[in-house]
Amino acid sequence: MPELTDINYIKQIMTKHGFHVSKALGQNFLINPTVCPRIAELGNAKENFGILEIGTGVGVLTKELAKRAEKVVAIELDNKLFPILNETLAEFNNIKIIHGDAMKINLKKIISEEFENLQVAVCANLPYYITSPLIMRLLEEKLPIKTITIMVQKEAGQRLCAPVRSRESGAVTVAVAYYGEAKKLFDVTRGSFLPAPNVDSMVMQIKLYAEQHWHVQDENLFFKIIKIGFSQRRKQLCSVLANYFHMPKTDMLSVFEQANILFNTRIEALTMPELVNLSNILAENLKN
Ligand code: SAM
Repeated sequence: MPELTDINYIKQIMTKHGFHVSKALGQNFLINPTVCPRIAELGNAKENFGILEIGTGVGVLTKELAKRAEKVVAIELDNKLFPILNETLAEFNNIKIIHGDAMKINLKKIISEEFENLQVAVCANLPYYITSPLIMRLLEEKLPIKTITIMVQKEAGQRLCAPVRSRESGAVTVAVAYYGEAKKLFDVTRGSFLPAPNVDSMVMQIKLYAEQHWHVQDENLFFKIIKIGFSQRRKQLCSVLANYFHMPKTDMLSVFEQANILFNTRIEALTMPELVNLSNILAENLKN
C-alpha cells in the first residue's frame, strides 16, 4: 500500500470516497514523512503502552502509533473518514476507532475499558480549534496518563511551554505547570500538511506528575486566582483579588505581606511556588 504521506495517494483515496476536508474540523493532514514516526517514538508508542489518539484524519499518525504500541484507541468526530480508515488501516488489528467528540466523550471509561494493564499516553495532531480546552480536559480529569505528546499551533505551544514567570505565560501555562512538565520537542513547518495551514506548528510534550506535586489546599481557589489574575494581567494582583473576593484592600495587603509578595506585583511576575503559597494563605484568610 502506498504511504499515507503520499499526496497523490491521499487525494486519490479522498476522491474515491467523495471526501472533502473540513476547515471547521481543523483537518490539516500530515504529509511530511518524518513527523509521525518522531511523534510516535517520542510519545511513548512502545511495548506495554496503550495510545489514545485524538483525530485520525486518514490514519497517518494512527498507523505509526500502531506499529509501535500494544494498542491504539483513536477518537474521530468526522464519520465521513471512517470508510477511508477501513481501507488505510486494514492491516492492523490493534487499532480501535471510536466515533465521537473528544470534548464530550467519556475518556475515563474509554481508558479503563480499553487499556487494562497498559500504561497510557496521548498522542495527537490536534484540531487547533480545541487545543486549550482539550488539554485542560485531559489534565483536569486527572486521567491515568503518563505523557501527552501533541502537535499544536506554534504560538499556542510557546505559551503552553513557557516558564510560569514570563511574558509569554498565561493561565493555561500555569495550569499545565500545575499538572506536569511541558517542553517543546520540535518545530513543524506549514508545508508539512495537506492542506497547508497559514500558521506554523510545533510538537510538544507534557509529562504528567504521577502524584499531586504542588501542595495546594484549595484547587478551586488556586485556579480562580490564576484565571482572574491573568484576565487582568497588567494590573496589580493585590487590587484585582481584593475586588474579586470583595475584601478590603488592607486585608488583601496583609495576605500579600504574609506571602512575602510586594503589594504592586503583577501575576506574571510570580513563580509557581509563590502562586501556591499565595493561594494557601488566601484560603486560610477566607476561612476566618
Ligand atoms: N492525525 C491526522 C493527521 O495527523 O494527519 C489528522 C489531524 S487533523 C489536524 C485533526 C483531526 O481531528 C481531523 O481528522 C478532525 O476530523 C478531527 N477532529 C476535529 N474535531 C474533533 C473532535 N472534537 N473530536 C475528535 N476528533 C476531532
